[in-house]
Amino acid sequence: MTEPSEPIRLPLVLAEPRGRQKPPRHLADLAPDERKAHLVDLGLPGFRAKQLSTHYFARLVDDPAAMTDLPAAQREELVAALLPDLMTPIRTLEADRGTTRKTLWRLFDGALVESVLMRYPGRVTMCVSSQAGCGMACPFCATGQGGLQRNMSTAEIVEQVVAGARSLARDEVAGGPGRVSNVVFMGMGEPLANYKAVLGAVRRLTDPAPDGLGMSARGITVSTVGLVPRIRQLADEGIPVTLALSLHAPDDELRNELVPINTKFSVAETVEAAWSYAEKTKRRVSIEYAMMRGINDQGWRADLLGDVLRSYGDWGWVHVNLIPLNPTPGSKWTASDPADEREFVRRLEAKGVPTTVRDTRGREIDGACGQLAAAPD
Ligand code: SAH
Repeated sequence: MTEPSEPIRLPLVLAEPRGRQKPPRHLADLAPDERKAHLVDLGLPGFRAKQLSTHYFARLVDDPAAMTDLPAAQREELVAALLPDLMTPIRTLEADRGTTRKTLWRLFDGALVESVLMRYPGRVTMCVSSQAGCGMACPFCATGQGGLQRNMSTAEIVEQVVAGARSLARDEVAGGPGRVSNVVFMGMGEPLANYKAVLGAVRRLTDPAPDGLGMSARGITVSTVGLVPRIRQLADEGIPVTLALSLHAPDDELRNELVPINTKFSVAETVEAAWSYAEKTKRRVSIEYAMMRGINDQGWRADLLGDVLRSYGDWGWVHVNLIPLNPTPGSKWTASDPADEREFVRRLEAKGVPTTVRDTRGREIDGACGQLAAAPD
């Protein structure tokens, strides 16, 4: 019998704290040439990368047994290398006769996120999460109350869209077979605080099939609290995605309270960045404004908002999207009176600012704006 002479060392991967492990690497994390190189590094034939990409992005196949063009002996290894399981659906809730579907996902490390599919006549929008939780702490948003758990990977973001596309292709969504036409980064998280992964996801969504999903950048909206340097960076990427800015107040005093990052980037700086985004990309910016009774819905604030936006010119660079406040647990705020909402619209339009009121979907399944909290029950 010999005593072990050295303390037993745990493999590094086990010694690392759980939260520090990275999500499995997936072909959606990689550009096409990197997918090839990854297979070659593992001693697998590089040309299989294209077949795997075709299964994932073009055929929306997720069952390895259906990938009959891959040699059976190597199939498992190839799938493990580039198409690992990223997330497990925990539950799907439906509203609007099945045309709104919210799915709760468990990620590899137990983190929970939600995505929402919304079918309208002639289009389908997927609302995706970019972070598990959110660090922006807006007091009227349920996601903001739980804090940030972690950034999602590019593939974890993309997989939410692919999963929606699969369920549409397989006729699982009311209204018949269909395709995802729009993606909005309006689920959990602040997309511009996870810039690299989000940009990667935008590239995968817009890359032509089979390298990506082949969507139009014009159908993609990135919504932000207003991380000014990141808005400027996004404007320089040359991808014409739509920018939505969650403004919610036209004055610093109130916005400091509603959107705490405002203490770092003022209303003036934030709106200026949004305007220069519109100028560079020629894409009309959307200003999101959740209407809260007696808080931000006064006539004078509508006038001030109109003036702030018009001060950058009247070439139609912007429109305002009013969101009726959705209820969140413990929130002291309620939605505006419909008459006040109408007056708000009237005043903005009188200033020449096009204004719409969002048709909020999925409120009864806690799937509407600001309600995603990813609670397991
Ligand atoms: N963090 C990004 C992406 C989230 S988008 C952002 O803030 O833009 C979610 C949108 O819903 C944002 O405009 C957010 O301000 C808004 N929102 C949050 N809570 C809400 C609520 N209770 N009712 C209506 N809209 C809400």
